[in-house]
Amino acid sequence: MFLGELEQPVNSLPGIGPASVRDLSSMDIRTIADLLCHFPRDYENRMEQKPLYSQLLAPEETRTVNTVIKVIDQEFIGWGRKQTLKVRVSDESGEAFLVCFGRNFLADTLKPGRVFYLYGKFNYRYNQLQSSTFEFEPWSEVPKKFGKILPVYPLAGKLAQATLRKAIHGAFQQYGKYLEDEVPPFLAEKYALMPKHKAIREVHFPENEKSREEALRTLKYEELFYLQIAIGRRTRKRQEQTRITRTFADSMRSQVIQRLPFDLTPDQKTVLQEIQQDISGVHPMMRLLQGDVGSGKTLVAFLSSLLCIEAGLQVAFMAPTELLAKQHAGNASLYLEPVGVRVGFLSSSIHREGRKNLIKALASGEVHLLIGTHALFSGDVRFNNLGMIVVDEQQRFGVLQRLAVMGKGKVPDLLMMTATPIPRTMALTVFGDIDISTIHTLPPGRKPVITHLAREGNEEKVYVRVREELKKGNQAYFVYPLIRQSEKLDLKDTETMFQRISRELFPDFPAGLIHSRVSEEEKEQTMEAFTRGKIKILVATSVVEVGVDVPAATCMVIEHAERFGLSALHQLRGRVGRGEKQSYAFLIFSENLTDDARLRLKIMKENSDGFRISEEDLNLRGPGDIAGVRQSGYFRLKIADIIRDFELLKTAKKDAGQILDTDPGLLSEEHTAIREVLLRSPSFPDELFDGG
Ligand code: ADP
Ligand code: MG
Repeated sequence: MFLGELEQPVNSLPGIGPASVRDLSSMDIRTIADLLCHFPRDYENRMEQKPLYSQLLAPEETRTVNTVIKVIDQEFIGWGRKQTLKVRVSDESGEAFLVCFGRNFLADTLKPGRVFYLYGKFNYRYNQLQSSTFEFEPWSEVPKKFGKILPVYPLAGKLAQATLRKAIHGAFQQYGKYLEDEVPPFLAEKYALMPKHKAIREVHFPENEKSREEALRTLKYEELFYLQIAIGRRTRKRQEQTRITRTFADSMRSQVIQRLPFDLTPDQKTVLQEIQQDISGVHPMMRLLQGDVGSGKTLVAFLSSLLCIEAGLQVAFMAPTELLAKQHAGNASLYLEPVGVRVGFLSSSIHREGRKNLIKALASGEVHLLIGTHALFSGDVRFNNLGMIVVDEQQRFGVLQRLAVMGKGKVPDLLMMTATPIPRTMALTVFGDIDISTIHTLPPGRKPVITHLAREGNEEKVYVRVREELKKGNQAYFVYPLIRQSEKLDLKDTETMFQRISRELFPDFPAGLIHSRVSEEEKEQTMEAFTRGKIKILVATSVVEVGVDVPAATCMVIEHAERFGLSALHQLRGRVGRGEKQSYAFLIFSENLTDDARLRLKIMKENSDGFRISEEDLNLRGPGDIAGVRQSGYFRLKIADIIRDFELLKTAKKDAGQILDTDPGLLSEEHTAIREVLLRSPSFPDELFDGG
């Protein structure tokens, strides 16, 4: 392939050595184009003067100062090796102190009488205005780092802010001239967009606030416009894809339903019908099934698969973790094998012979239902006749991953499932023409989990309650934020607590340990032992968050609960209360809760409905930050924000739709290097429906 100028590797820039290359590539920055699309996460405005004293400062408040100061005097505070340089400075508004922790060498520079530009965060300590995080530069007519707006970039590894600023500046100087406008001129004119070249410059090195905002608007519009072009193209292609309507025999599905030890809920029945209608129709299904944790989505997916399987089609079922995929495979065997379904399991831990045999059986059509992780879309996996794809916990997959598997069938039906609901208008705008089903109610007989909050220090009371449950033969989860002890964070971790739990706290009950660094084999053994009740206590990180289903587990203890977001807490709590027994969640929190954390815990205590909880989350954090929505692959754009820029998104959708309807040839389907970078971001579902 022709290597355009913008596709040069980053190490072609001066000052970017092997270490920086490594750090950059950990953020997926490999080319000049990647670098120019690495947008600032914030800015430091060093243009506007902000004197030491401008308004009254509340005692805890932090003030950003950007001023010119004169050094008055210096002193050393503290004793011995802990001595710290403290410099008294003043500007026109008054006096303040710079505390130079670990930077005593500044004594030679910050000498009395000298004048500097100063930028820093100040607050009150001991009745003095002080700063220990500040930058300065000797006063001159043309300052280097002052009098302008400085970008603040996301960093990784040992990469310094200054290095990145220089690299991006250099990249722009050398390669900026290759940036081409990509929005059709009539739209650029209509919205008074900046030329691309200027927008990229202004977003990194803004002349002033106004031009920065215009640059942002330009780039956001462009990104959303191409998102909508991609979605629109896909939607239109899908509408062109037709097949003859089909009727499905329903003997396998009804046999399995008859054998179930319970009745389907009314919502489950409705959704089964909706799916049947979709897959019978002339266009392939594209349906999002929303339902709270434990509402019985998986069963609906299995039952729907039976229609396809009976018609001679294969079904692929993707889950985000091996743990969950295994569990689904186990259930599928249990429910579906009695009616003759052959279930296969594939993950990256299936090697050699096992994998080879499975792949053969898939290609020949011997395996009807393949369940697995993202391993399902590796290149050598070929189906004989793939008819339907189910994606469980779809928000866990990037769009690319989620949909690469689509290419493995001719015109497969797609069913995506999630416990993280997305507002309908947003889903439609983002996904295009997706259909949505919802299971509103849990199966009957489920008792809502009783949630207790406990302050750190009162753990013993919680442990007593858990012990009572264990004595009744029930099981418990203990969840911690850290895998192992950290020097930086004073938090409990799974490894230390596993020792304490098995030796001191609950020596009579066998315990197991699960986190992401435990080998797949060990995970599997532990999970199986827990499922069978051989292990009574499972100590874990949030890896147990999704899907795992052990009905005898009645206690979920989450320590440092304030460290978890609402959707994680809700998912974790969903691991208990899965049988008929009364279950409990114990959220143990530390001192010094932020207001937000306090509210989160309160919401958890007062609500059990997941949809309600995400609504509360929305209220709590404002539309900028819906838990689960932002994280979900569909919403990770480079510069625009689906939620905050929703109005712009709607405009872009209208414009894109008009072009596709009236003049589809206007935009070439080829991409420039820069657009390639944007398209690579997981939010672009372009092309994936046609073969990926
Ligand atoms: P989800 O995937 O929506 O979180 P699951 O499909 O894992 O939920 O279902 C949770 C549990 O509820 C499973 O053990 C399943 O067998 C059971 N279940 C599903 N539907 C019903 C029902 N209608 N009545 C009783 N139990 C059900
Ligand atoms: Mg599930």
